[in-house]
Amino acid sequence: MSEALSKEQLTAIATQYGTPVYVYHAETIENQYRKLSSAFRNSNTVFFYACKALTNINILKHVKQLGANVDCSSINEVKLALYAGFLPERVLYTSNGIAFSEIEEAKALGVNINIDSLSNLEKFGKKFGHSYPVGIRLRPNIMAGGNLKISTGHEKSKFGIPIDQIDQILQVVEQHNLHISDLHIHTGSEIKDVDVFVKGIEVLFSIIPHFKELEFIDLGGGFKVPYKEGDVGTDIDLLAEKVKAAFDNHPNPGGKPLQVWFEPGKFMVSECGYFVTQVNVIKETSAASFVSVDSGFNHLIRPMFYDAYHRIENISNPSGPLKEYAVVGNICETDTFAWNRKLNEVREGDLLVFYNAGAYGFEMSSQFNSRFKPAEVLVKNGAPHLIRKRDVFEDLLRNQVEVL
Ligand SMILES: *Cc1c(COP(=O)(O)O)cnc(C)c1O
Repeated sequence: MSEALSKEQLTAIATQYGTPVYVYHAETIENQYRKLSSAFRNSNTVFFYACKALTNINILKHVKQLGANVDCSSINEVKLALYAGFLPERVLYTSNGIAFSEIEEAKALGVNINIDSLSNLEKFGKKFGHSYPVGIRLRPNIMAGGNLKISTGHEKSKFGIPIDQIDQILQVVEQHNLHISDLHIHTGSEIKDVDVFVKGIEVLFSIIPHFKELEFIDLGGGFKVPYKEGDVGTDIDLLAEKVKAAFDNHPNPGGKPLQVWFEPGKFMVSECGYFVTQVNVIKETSAASFVSVDSGFNHLIRPMFYDAYHRIENISNPSGPLKEYAVVGNICETDTFAWNRKLNEVREGDLLVFYNAGAYGFEMSSQFNSRFKPAEVLVKNGAPHLIRKRDVFEDLLRNQVEVL
C-alpha cells in the first residue's frame, strides 16, 4: 500500500512534536470525498460526514470546505459543527436514546433531526406538530457490519424504531400531523457488501407510500475501508450504480424524486490518519518478543475493543530483517495492539506507525492511567500544523474539586 505521507515526513513530525502523535493528511480526506461525489455525480445524493469519527475543529472546517455536510451523534457535535461554520440546514443530528431536551435544543438551532424512538417522536409531535420537518430513524432488521459490536440494524439492536412497529409510528405521525421529511437507516460499520444498502432501500420502499411529505432517504454510513494488506473496501462505484438502479425502479409515489443521503465517517477520515509511537522497551520472553510503545488502548482502543487490525510499520528501520513481535502498550492493563506481527527489526527508540488511524482513534482516547492524550497534527499542502496540543499535567486536574 502506498502512503500519502512518507516515513521521512512522519519521522520529522514525530521529532518536532514528540510522540505519541496523531497525524492527518488533509488531501487524503479530499480524495475520499471526491471518490464519493464523483461516483454519485449522476444522482441526487448528499454526503453528511459522520463526525464522531474525528471531531477536531480543523477537520470539520476542512470537510466543510470540501462541500460535504455533517452528521452528528450528540448535541455537542451539533454545536461543534455550527462553530466550524456549517449552516444549520447542512447539519444532521441522528440521535439515539437521548433526552427530549436535546431534541428541543437541536430544533432551536435549526438543524435536521432524526428521531429514533416512539417516545421522543410522540413528544416532538405534541410540542411541535407539523411546524418542523423531522426524520425517523428506523431499525430495518438487517444484519450487517464487520462484527456485532458495530452492527446497528439487526433485531437485537437498540438503534432506531423497529420497522415492524410501523403501525405505531403511523399512528403517532397521524395523531400529531407530523411533517416527516426523511427516513433513516444505519445498519452498521464496515459494510463491504453493497447489497446491504439495496436491501435497506427495499425495506424502506415498502413503507415510503405512507409518508406524503418525504424528501430524503438517509441510508447512513458504514462504508468499509481496507485495513489489512489484501483487504477490499466497499466498492463505491458499484454502490452508486446499484443505489441509482434501486431508485429508478421505485419512483416516489409522492411525485418528487427523493434525495439520497449517506453518512460516511470512517470512509472519510480513516486512511488520512497515522498514529506515530516510539518504542520504550523490548522484552524477550518464551511467548513473544514484546515491543512496548509509548501508548496503549488509552490512545488507540480499536484493537482491544473491536479486535481491529491496524497495519504497523517500523519507520526507523525500514530495511531491517523481518522478525515477529507482539506490539503492546505501556498501560497497566492488557493492551495488545498486534500479536505475531512481522516488523522490520525493532530497536528501543524506534518509531512505529499505525496506519488507518484517523477514524475512532484520537476520538476514543482517554486519560486512563493518568497519561496525557496525544497531540494532533494536520498536514495540508505539505506543511504540518499542530491542531491539538498534547495534554499537560494541569489537564489531569482540570475540573477536579479538591475538598481534602
Ligand atoms: C457511526 C455512525 C455513522 C458512521 O459510521 P462509519 O462506519 O464510520 O461510516 C453514520 N451514521 C450514524 C447514525 C452513526 O451512528
